[in-house]
Amino acid sequence: MMVKTRFAPSPTGYLHIGGARTALFSHLFALHNKGTTVLRIEDTDLERSTPEAVAAIMESLEWLGFQYDEGPYYQTKRFDRYKEVVAELLEKGHAYYCYCTPEELAEMRAKAEAKKEKPRYDGTWRPEPGKTLPEIPEGVSPVVRFKNPQVGVTSFTDLVHGNLSVQNSELDDLIIARSDGSPTYNFCVVVDDVDMEITHVIRGDDHINNTYRQVNIFKALGKPVPHFAHLAMILGDDGQKLSKRHGAVGVMEYYERGFLPEAVINYLVRLGWSHGDQEIFTFEEMVKYFDLKNVSKSASAFNTSKLLWLNQHYMIEKNPAELGQLLKPFLKKLGIQTETSPEFDNFLTKAVEAHVKRSETLVELAEMIQYLFVDEIEIDEAAKAKQLTSASKPVLEELVRVLSDVTTWEHAELDAAVKAVTKNLEIGMGKVGMPLRTAIVGRTNSPNLDETLYLVGKERTLERLEKAINLID
Ligand code: GLU
Repeated sequence: MMVKTRFAPSPTGYLHIGGARTALFSHLFALHNKGTTVLRIEDTDLERSTPEAVAAIMESLEWLGFQYDEGPYYQTKRFDRYKEVVAELLEKGHAYYCYCTPEELAEMRAKAEAKKEKPRYDGTWRPEPGKTLPEIPEGVSPVVRFKNPQVGVTSFTDLVHGNLSVQNSELDDLIIARSDGSPTYNFCVVVDDVDMEITHVIRGDDHINNTYRQVNIFKALGKPVPHFAHLAMILGDDGQKLSKRHGAVGVMEYYERGFLPEAVINYLVRLGWSHGDQEIFTFEEMVKYFDLKNVSKSASAFNTSKLLWLNQHYMIEKNPAELGQLLKPFLKKLGIQTETSPEFDNFLTKAVEAHVKRSETLVELAEMIQYLFVDEIEIDEAAKAKQLTSASKPVLEELVRVLSDVTTWEHAELDAAVKAVTKNLEIGMGKVGMPLRTAIVGRTNSPNLDETLYLVGKERTLERLEKAINLID
Protein backbone atom coordinates (compact mmCIF):
# COMPACT_ATOMS: atom_id res chain seq x y z
CA MET A 1 0.00 0.00 0.00
CA MET A 2 1.28 3.45 -0.95
CA VAL A 3 1.11 5.66 2.14
CA LYS A 4 -0.55 9.04 1.72
CA THR A 5 -1.02 11.46 4.58
CA ARG A 6 -2.48 14.91 4.76
CA PHE A 7 -2.23 18.00 6.85
CA ALA A 8 -5.57 19.75 7.05
CA PRO A 9 -5.45 23.01 8.99
CA SER A 10 -8.50 25.21 9.49
CA PRO A 11 -7.51 28.77 8.60
CA THR A 12 -9.07 30.46 11.59
CA GLY A 13 -5.81 31.80 13.03
CA TYR A 14 -2.06 31.29 12.94
CA LEU A 15 -0.47 27.86 12.81
CA HIS A 16 0.08 26.97 16.43
CA ILE A 17 2.76 24.73 17.78
CA GLY A 18 0.40 21.74 18.13
CA GLY A 19 -0.58 22.09 14.47
CA ALA A 20 3.06 22.27 13.49
CA ARG A 21 3.74 19.02 15.33
CA THR A 22 0.80 17.34 13.56
CA ALA A 23 2.20 18.57 10.24
CA LEU A 24 5.64 17.25 11.18
CA PHE A 25 4.44 13.82 12.25
CA SER A 26 2.30 13.33 9.15
CA HIS A 27 5.25 14.41 7.05
CA LEU A 28 7.72 12.12 8.75
CA PHE A 29 5.34 9.19 8.59
CA ALA A 30 4.87 9.69 4.83
CA LEU A 31 8.57 10.17 4.17
CA HIS A 32 9.54 7.18 6.31
CA ASN A 33 7.17 5.02 4.28
CA LYS A 34 8.18 6.57 0.96
CA GLY A 35 4.67 7.90 0.63
CA THR A 36 3.25 11.28 -0.26
CA THR A 37 1.64 14.21 1.52
CA VAL A 38 -1.32 16.45 0.81
CA LEU A 39 -2.03 19.93 2.12
CA ARG A 40 -5.68 20.73 2.51
CA ILE A 41 -7.12 23.97 3.78
CA GLU A 42 -10.32 23.28 5.69
CA ASP A 43 -12.04 26.58 5.14
CA THR A 44 -15.70 25.51 5.14
CA ASP A 45 -16.35 27.63 8.19
CA LEU A 46 -16.79 30.77 6.13
CA GLU A 47 -17.27 33.05 9.07
CA ARG A 48 -14.09 32.06 10.88
CA SER A 49 -11.76 31.38 7.93
CA THR A 50 -9.71 34.25 6.55
CA PRO A 51 -7.24 34.66 3.68
CA GLU A 52 -4.84 36.19 6.20
CA ALA A 53 -4.90 32.99 8.23
CA VAL A 54 -4.29 30.94 5.07
CA ALA A 55 -1.29 33.14 4.28
CA ALA A 56 -0.02 32.86 7.86
CA ILE A 57 -0.28 29.06 7.79
CA MET A 58 1.53 28.88 4.45
CA GLU A 59 4.27 31.15 5.73
CA SER A 60 4.75 28.94 8.78
CA LEU A 61 4.85 25.72 6.76
CA GLU A 62 7.35 27.27 4.42
CA TRP A 63 9.52 28.48 7.27
CA LEU A 64 9.50 25.00 8.76
CA GLY A 65 10.48 23.68 5.34
CA PHE A 66 7.52 21.41 4.67
CA GLN A 67 6.77 20.69 1.07
CA TYR A 68 3.64 18.95 -0.08
CA ASP A 69 3.29 16.60 -3.01
CA GLU A 70 -0.29 17.75 -3.56
CA GLY A 71 -2.31 20.79 -2.74
CA PRO A 72 -3.11 23.12 -1.23
CA TYR A 73 -6.66 22.01 -1.86
CA TYR A 74 -9.35 24.31 -0.55
CA GLN A 75 -12.60 22.86 0.70
CA THR A 76 -14.50 25.96 -0.42
CA LYS A 77 -13.56 25.08 -4.00
CA ARG A 78 -15.04 21.61 -3.68
CA PHE A 79 -18.64 22.43 -2.78
CA ASP A 80 -20.00 20.94 -6.02
CA ARG A 81 -18.28 17.69 -5.21
CA TYR A 82 -19.73 17.60 -1.68
CA LYS A 83 -23.20 18.23 -3.09
CA GLU A 84 -22.71 15.32 -5.44
CA VAL A 85 -21.87 13.02 -2.54
CA VAL A 86 -24.81 14.31 -0.45
CA ALA A 87 -27.05 13.37 -3.39
CA GLU A 88 -25.40 9.95 -3.55
CA LEU A 89 -26.03 9.29 0.14
CA LEU A 90 -29.64 10.47 -0.17
CA GLU A 91 -30.16 8.22 -3.12
CA LYS A 92 -28.70 5.20 -1.37
CA GLY A 93 -30.83 5.83 1.70
CA HIS A 94 -27.85 6.70 3.94
CA ALA A 95 -29.06 10.25 4.41
CA TYR A 96 -32.41 11.97 4.62
CA TYR A 97 -34.03 15.37 4.61
CA CYS A 98 -35.02 16.76 7.96
CA TYR A 99 -37.56 19.59 8.06
CA CYS A 100 -37.38 20.37 11.74
CA THR A 101 -37.51 24.09 12.35
CA PRO A 102 -34.95 25.75 14.62
CA GLU A 103 -37.77 26.14 17.19
CA GLU A 104 -38.50 22.42 17.15
CA LEU A 105 -34.85 21.62 17.59
CA ALA A 106 -34.62 24.06 20.49
CA GLU A 107 -37.61 22.33 22.04
CA MET A 108 -35.92 18.92 21.64
CA ARG A 109 -32.85 20.27 23.34
CA ALA A 110 -34.84 21.76 26.19
CA LYS A 111 -36.70 18.49 26.75
CA ALA A 112 -33.48 16.51 26.87
CA GLU A 113 -31.92 18.99 29.24
CA ALA A 114 -34.95 18.85 31.49
CA LYS A 115 -34.48 15.07 31.68
CA LYS A 116 -30.75 15.61 32.23
CA GLU A 117 -30.03 13.72 29.02
CA LYS A 118 -27.57 14.54 26.29
CA PRO A 119 -29.38 16.77 23.78
CA ARG A 120 -29.96 14.79 20.65
CA TYR A 121 -32.04 14.67 17.53
CA ASP A 122 -35.16 12.62 18.15
CA GLY A 123 -35.30 11.04 14.70
CA THR A 124 -38.57 12.68 13.61
CA TRP A 125 -37.61 12.64 9.95
CA ARG A 126 -35.47 9.50 9.97
CA PRO A 127 -37.02 7.07 7.54
CA GLU A 128 -37.47 3.52 8.75
CA PRO A 129 -39.22 0.61 7.12
CA GLY A 130 -42.92 0.83 7.92
CA LYS A 131 -42.63 4.29 9.46
CA THR A 132 -44.82 7.12 8.18
CA LEU A 133 -42.97 10.40 8.08
CA PRO A 134 -44.69 13.67 8.96
CA GLU A 135 -46.11 15.79 6.18
CA ILE A 136 -43.50 18.04 4.63
CA PRO A 137 -44.13 21.55 5.95
CA GLU A 138 -44.27 24.47 3.59
CA GLY A 139 -41.61 27.10 3.53
CA VAL A 140 -38.99 25.09 5.43
CA SER A 141 -35.71 24.40 3.65
CA PRO A 142 -34.57 21.04 4.94
CA VAL A 143 -31.16 20.04 6.21
CA VAL A 144 -29.70 16.68 5.21
CA ARG A 145 -28.89 14.27 8.02
CA PHE A 146 -26.67 11.23 7.89
CA LYS A 147 -28.46 8.05 8.89
CA ASN A 148 -26.08 6.82 11.54
CA PRO A 149 -26.44 3.21 12.70
CA GLN A 150 -28.54 3.18 15.88
CA VAL A 151 -27.39 -0.08 17.40
CA GLY A 152 -24.02 -1.71 17.95
CA VAL A 153 -20.69 -0.01 18.31
CA THR A 154 -18.45 1.96 16.04
CA SER A 155 -14.82 1.17 16.57
CA PHE A 156 -11.47 1.68 14.96
CA THR A 157 -7.91 0.79 15.78
CA ASP A 158 -5.98 3.91 16.47
CA LEU A 159 -2.26 3.62 15.72
CA VAL A 160 -1.45 5.53 18.90
CA HIS A 161 -4.27 4.72 21.29
CA GLY A 162 -5.18 1.19 20.22
CA ASN A 163 -8.79 0.10 20.02
CA LEU A 164 -11.33 2.89 20.42
CA SER A 165 -15.06 2.44 20.31
CA VAL A 166 -18.35 4.13 21.04
CA GLN A 167 -21.95 2.92 21.26
CA ASN A 168 -23.82 4.02 18.17
CA SER A 169 -26.67 5.06 20.42
CA GLU A 170 -24.33 7.85 21.57
CA LEU A 171 -24.04 9.26 18.08
CA ASP A 172 -26.62 11.59 16.61
CA ASP A 173 -27.82 11.71 13.03
CA LEU A 174 -25.31 14.28 11.97
CA ILE A 175 -26.32 17.16 9.70
CA ILE A 176 -24.20 16.82 6.56
CA ALA A 177 -25.77 19.67 4.59
CA ARG A 178 -27.30 22.80 6.08
CA SER A 179 -30.61 24.23 4.90
CA ASP A 180 -28.75 26.53 2.49
CA GLY A 181 -27.15 23.44 0.96
CA SER A 182 -23.67 24.06 2.39
CA PRO A 183 -21.90 20.92 3.55
CA THR A 184 -20.69 20.50 7.11
CA TYR A 185 -17.24 19.89 8.46
CA ASN A 186 -17.21 16.18 9.37
CA PHE A 187 -18.76 15.28 6.08
CA CYS A 188 -16.33 17.29 3.93
CA VAL A 189 -13.38 15.71 5.72
CA VAL A 190 -14.57 12.25 4.73
CA VAL A 191 -15.28 13.16 1.12
CA ASP A 192 -11.82 14.72 0.89
CA ASP A 193 -10.05 11.83 2.52
CA VAL A 194 -11.81 9.47 0.11
CA ASP A 195 -11.14 11.56 -3.01
CA MET A 196 -7.56 12.32 -2.04
CA GLU A 197 -6.98 8.62 -1.30
CA ILE A 198 -5.60 9.30 2.14
CA THR A 199 -4.34 6.14 3.79
CA HIS A 200 -3.32 7.59 7.17
CA VAL A 201 -5.09 10.34 9.03
CA ILE A 202 -2.78 11.83 11.64
CA ARG A 203 -4.33 14.59 13.73
CA GLY A 204 -4.92 15.86 17.23
CA ASP A 205 -6.82 13.68 19.69
CA ASP A 206 -9.43 16.41 20.07
CA HIS A 207 -10.80 14.86 16.86
CA ILE A 208 -11.45 11.37 18.25
CA ASN A 209 -15.16 12.06 18.67
CA ASN A 210 -15.35 13.23 15.08
CA THR A 211 -13.59 10.08 13.93
CA TYR A 212 -16.43 7.80 15.08
CA ARG A 213 -18.89 9.79 12.99
CA GLN A 214 -16.51 9.88 10.07
CA VAL A 215 -15.91 6.11 10.19
CA ASN A 216 -19.64 5.54 9.68
CA ILE A 217 -19.72 7.90 6.73
CA PHE A 218 -16.76 6.10 5.10
CA LYS A 219 -18.64 2.85 5.54
CA ALA A 220 -21.89 4.25 4.12
CA LEU A 221 -19.95 5.42 1.08
CA GLY A 222 -18.55 1.92 0.70
CA LYS A 223 -15.01 3.24 0.90
CA PRO A 224 -12.08 1.85 2.85
CA VAL A 225 -11.69 3.47 6.24
CA PRO A 226 -8.18 4.99 6.50
CA HIS A 227 -5.85 4.31 9.40
CA PHE A 228 -6.03 6.86 12.17
CA ALA A 229 -3.42 8.14 14.57
CA HIS A 230 -4.56 10.70 17.11
CA LEU A 231 -1.82 12.70 18.77
CA ALA A 232 -2.06 13.68 22.41
CA MET A 233 -2.16 17.31 23.38
CA ILE A 234 0.76 19.57 24.09
CA LEU A 235 0.54 21.24 27.49
CA GLY A 236 2.37 24.20 28.95
CA ASP A 237 5.32 23.58 31.33
CA ASP A 238 2.81 23.96 34.20
CA GLY A 239 0.67 21.08 32.91
CA GLN A 240 -2.11 23.43 31.78
CA LYS A 241 -3.49 23.72 28.28
CA LEU A 242 -0.93 25.47 26.09
CA SER A 243 -1.87 29.10 25.64
CA LYS A 244 -0.48 32.59 25.20
CA ARG A 245 0.41 32.55 28.87
CA HIS A 246 3.19 30.09 28.08
CA GLY A 247 4.85 32.46 25.66
CA ALA A 248 4.77 32.02 21.94
CA VAL A 249 2.20 29.62 20.59
CA GLY A 250 2.10 30.67 16.93
CA VAL A 251 4.90 29.18 14.84
CA MET A 252 6.02 32.51 13.40
CA GLU A 253 6.41 33.89 16.89
CA TYR A 254 9.26 31.43 17.24
CA TYR A 255 10.81 32.93 14.16
CA GLU A 256 10.40 36.39 15.65
CA ARG A 257 11.95 35.29 18.90
CA GLY A 258 15.04 34.14 17.02
CA PHE A 259 14.62 30.39 16.77
CA LEU A 260 15.88 28.37 13.84
CA PRO A 261 13.38 26.08 12.12
CA GLU A 262 15.77 23.13 12.59
CA ALA A 263 15.59 23.65 16.34
CA VAL A 264 11.82 23.98 16.39
CA ILE A 265 11.44 20.81 14.31
CA ASN A 266 13.88 18.87 16.44
CA TYR A 267 12.07 20.13 19.49
CA LEU A 268 8.66 19.15 18.13
CA VAL A 269 9.69 15.67 17.09
CA ARG A 270 10.45 14.85 20.71
CA LEU A 271 7.11 16.16 21.90
CA GLY A 272 5.36 12.84 22.13
CA TRP A 273 7.78 10.69 20.15
CA SER A 274 11.02 9.06 21.16
CA HIS A 275 13.80 6.98 19.75
CA GLY A 276 15.68 5.60 22.72
CA ASP A 277 17.13 8.55 24.57
CA GLN A 278 18.34 10.41 21.51
CA GLU A 279 17.57 14.13 21.68
CA ILE A 280 19.26 15.59 18.63
CA PHE A 281 18.16 14.38 15.22
CA THR A 282 19.02 15.45 11.73
CA PHE A 283 15.97 15.54 9.50
CA GLU A 284 17.24 12.41 7.74
CA GLU A 285 17.45 10.61 11.07
CA MET A 286 13.90 11.65 11.94
CA VAL A 287 12.67 10.24 8.64
CA LYS A 288 14.66 7.07 9.15
CA TYR A 289 13.48 6.34 12.68
CA PHE A 290 9.99 7.82 12.83
CA ASP A 291 7.14 5.46 13.45
CA LEU A 292 3.76 5.80 15.10
CA LYS A 293 4.48 2.93 17.48
CA ASN A 294 6.72 5.17 19.52
CA VAL A 295 4.27 8.03 19.74
CA SER A 296 3.10 8.57 23.29
CA LYS A 297 -0.54 8.29 24.33
CA SER A 298 -0.22 10.88 27.00
CA ALA A 299 0.08 14.62 26.69
CA SER A 300 3.54 16.16 26.56
CA ALA A 301 4.62 19.31 28.28
CA PHE A 302 6.29 22.18 26.51
CA ASN A 303 9.73 22.93 27.83
CA THR A 304 11.14 26.26 26.76
CA SER A 305 14.62 25.72 28.19
CA LYS A 306 15.04 22.59 26.12
CA LEU A 307 14.01 24.46 23.01
CA LEU A 308 16.60 27.14 23.84
CA TRP A 309 19.24 24.49 24.31
CA LEU A 310 18.44 22.95 20.93
CA ASN A 311 18.40 26.35 19.30
CA GLN A 312 21.87 27.10 20.56
CA HIS A 313 23.02 23.72 19.30
CA TYR A 314 21.74 24.45 15.80
CA MET A 315 23.07 27.99 15.83
CA ILE A 316 26.54 26.73 16.67
CA GLU A 317 26.26 24.01 14.08
CA LYS A 318 25.18 26.30 11.29
CA ASN A 319 27.71 27.76 8.91
CA PRO A 320 28.47 31.22 10.41
CA ALA A 321 28.12 32.98 7.06
CA GLU A 322 24.65 31.54 6.67
CA LEU A 323 23.78 32.38 10.23
CA GLY A 324 24.92 35.94 9.52
CA GLN A 325 22.44 36.18 6.66
CA LEU A 326 19.64 34.92 8.93
CA LEU A 327 20.70 37.45 11.52
CA LYS A 328 20.31 40.48 9.25
CA PRO A 329 16.56 41.02 9.85
CA PHE A 330 17.23 40.92 13.59
CA LEU A 331 20.03 43.47 13.27
CA LYS A 332 17.71 45.67 11.22
CA LYS A 333 15.15 45.52 14.00
CA LEU A 334 17.81 47.01 16.26
CA GLY A 335 18.21 49.87 13.81
CA ILE A 336 21.45 48.58 12.31
CA GLN A 337 21.86 49.17 8.61
CA THR A 338 22.99 45.94 7.04
CA GLU A 339 24.63 45.70 3.67
CA THR A 340 25.14 42.98 1.13
CA SER A 341 28.75 43.75 0.29
CA PRO A 342 31.41 41.04 0.70
CA GLU A 343 33.20 43.26 3.26
CA PHE A 344 30.12 43.62 5.40
CA ASP A 345 29.26 39.93 5.12
CA ASN A 346 32.80 38.87 6.03
CA PHE A 347 32.80 41.09 9.05
CA LEU A 348 29.35 39.84 10.07
CA THR A 349 30.54 36.25 9.73
CA LYS A 350 33.47 36.96 12.02
CA ALA A 351 31.21 38.67 14.53
CA VAL A 352 28.88 35.67 14.47
CA GLU A 353 31.73 33.19 14.92
CA ALA A 354 33.05 35.08 17.91
CA HIS A 355 29.71 35.37 19.73
CA VAL A 356 27.54 32.43 18.71
CA LYS A 357 28.43 30.29 21.72
CA ARG A 358 27.23 33.02 24.07
CA SER A 359 23.68 33.32 22.83
CA GLU A 360 20.68 31.06 22.57
CA THR A 361 18.60 32.88 19.97
CA LEU A 362 19.16 35.11 16.96
CA VAL A 363 17.58 37.95 18.92
CA GLU A 364 20.19 37.55 21.63
CA LEU A 365 23.01 37.18 19.14
CA ALA A 366 21.96 40.36 17.34
CA GLU A 367 21.86 42.25 20.64
CA MET A 368 25.20 40.77 21.60
CA ILE A 369 27.02 41.95 18.48
CA GLN A 370 25.23 45.27 18.22
CA TYR A 371 28.29 47.06 19.67
CA LEU A 372 30.21 46.17 16.53
CA PHE A 373 27.80 47.99 14.24
CA VAL A 374 27.08 51.26 16.01
CA ASP A 375 29.00 54.51 16.32
CA GLU A 376 27.97 55.07 19.87
CA ILE A 377 27.73 52.18 22.31
CA GLU A 378 25.49 52.09 25.30
CA ILE A 379 27.38 51.35 28.49
CA ASP A 380 25.68 49.11 30.99
CA GLU A 381 25.12 51.12 34.19
CA ALA A 382 26.32 48.44 36.59
CA ALA A 383 29.46 47.78 34.55
CA LYS A 384 30.13 51.49 34.34
CA ALA A 385 29.83 51.97 38.08
CA LYS A 386 32.12 49.06 38.82
CA GLN A 387 34.65 49.21 36.01
CA LEU A 388 35.02 52.84 35.01
CA THR A 389 36.47 54.25 38.22
CA SER A 390 39.39 56.36 39.30
CA ALA A 391 41.24 53.11 39.97
CA SER A 392 40.80 51.91 36.38
CA LYS A 393 41.53 55.29 34.79
CA PRO A 394 45.30 54.73 34.62
CA VAL A 395 44.68 51.29 33.12
CA LEU A 396 42.54 52.78 30.38
CA GLU A 397 45.13 55.47 29.78
CA GLU A 398 47.89 52.88 29.52
CA LEU A 399 45.73 50.88 27.11
CA VAL A 400 45.40 53.97 24.91
CA ARG A 401 49.17 54.47 24.94
CA VAL A 402 50.05 50.85 24.17
CA LEU A 403 47.28 50.21 21.64
CA SER A 404 48.06 53.44 19.73
CA ASP A 405 51.44 51.94 18.93
CA VAL A 406 50.03 48.69 17.55
CA THR A 407 50.57 48.84 13.81
CA THR A 408 49.35 45.39 12.85
CA TRP A 409 45.85 45.06 14.30
CA GLU A 410 45.85 41.26 14.47
CA HIS A 411 45.17 38.79 17.24
CA ALA A 412 48.77 37.99 18.21
CA GLU A 413 49.80 41.64 18.34
CA LEU A 414 46.69 42.58 20.29
CA ASP A 415 47.22 39.80 22.77
CA ALA A 416 50.81 40.96 23.26
CA ALA A 417 49.64 44.56 23.73
CA VAL A 418 47.17 43.66 26.48
CA LYS A 419 49.80 41.55 28.22
CA ALA A 420 52.21 44.47 28.01
CA VAL A 421 49.69 46.63 29.84
CA THR A 422 49.35 44.10 32.67
CA LYS A 423 53.13 43.97 32.90
CA ASN A 424 53.71 47.70 32.77
CA LEU A 425 51.20 48.30 35.55
CA GLU A 426 51.96 45.07 37.40
CA ILE A 427 48.32 44.08 37.62
CA GLY A 428 46.30 40.98 36.77
CA MET A 429 44.43 40.40 33.51
CA GLY A 430 41.04 40.94 35.17
CA LYS A 431 41.95 44.48 36.14
CA VAL A 432 42.68 45.23 32.49
CA GLY A 433 40.07 43.10 30.77
CA MET A 434 36.99 44.24 32.62
CA PRO A 435 37.46 48.02 32.24
CA LEU A 436 38.58 47.48 28.65
CA ARG A 437 35.47 45.47 27.80
CA THR A 438 33.25 48.00 29.53
CA ALA A 439 34.85 50.77 27.50
CA ILE A 440 34.72 49.17 24.06
CA VAL A 441 31.77 46.75 24.32
CA GLY A 442 29.63 48.46 26.96
CA ARG A 443 29.51 45.39 29.21
CA THR A 444 31.93 42.97 30.84
CA ASN A 445 30.91 39.97 28.82
CA SER A 446 32.54 39.56 25.42
CA PRO A 447 34.77 37.11 23.56
CA ASN A 448 38.54 36.96 24.20
CA LEU A 449 40.12 40.36 24.45
CA ASP A 450 42.26 39.99 21.34
CA GLU A 451 39.19 38.91 19.37
CA THR A 452 37.08 41.74 20.76
CA LEU A 453 39.75 44.34 20.03
CA TYR A 454 40.28 42.91 16.56
CA LEU A 455 36.57 43.18 15.76
CA VAL A 456 36.11 46.66 17.18
CA GLY A 457 39.11 47.87 15.18
CA LYS A 458 41.86 50.30 16.08
CA GLU A 459 40.15 53.60 15.44
CA ARG A 460 36.97 52.76 17.30
CA THR A 461 38.86 51.12 20.16
CA LEU A 462 40.90 54.24 20.81
CA GLU A 463 37.87 56.47 20.44
CA ARG A 464 35.83 54.40 22.89
CA LEU A 465 38.68 54.23 25.39
CA GLU A 466 39.01 58.04 25.32
CA LYS A 467 35.28 58.40 25.84
CA ALA A 468 35.36 56.02 28.78
CA ILE A 469 38.23 57.93 30.36
CA ASN A 470 36.21 61.12 30.03
CA LEU A 471 33.29 59.48 31.80
CA ILE A 472 35.44 59.08 34.90
CA ASP A 473 35.59 62.22 36.99
N1 GLU B 1 -9.08 21.08 10.31
C1 GLU B 1 -8.85 20.36 11.52
C2 GLU B 1 -8.10 21.24 12.48
O1 GLU B 1 -7.49 22.21 12.08
C3 GLU B 1 -8.08 19.08 11.31
C4 GLU B 1 -8.99 18.04 10.80
C5 GLU B 1 -8.33 16.78 10.40
O2 GLU B 1 -7.11 16.67 10.40
O3 GLU B 1 -9.06 15.89 10.05
O4 GLU B 1 -8.11 20.96 13.65
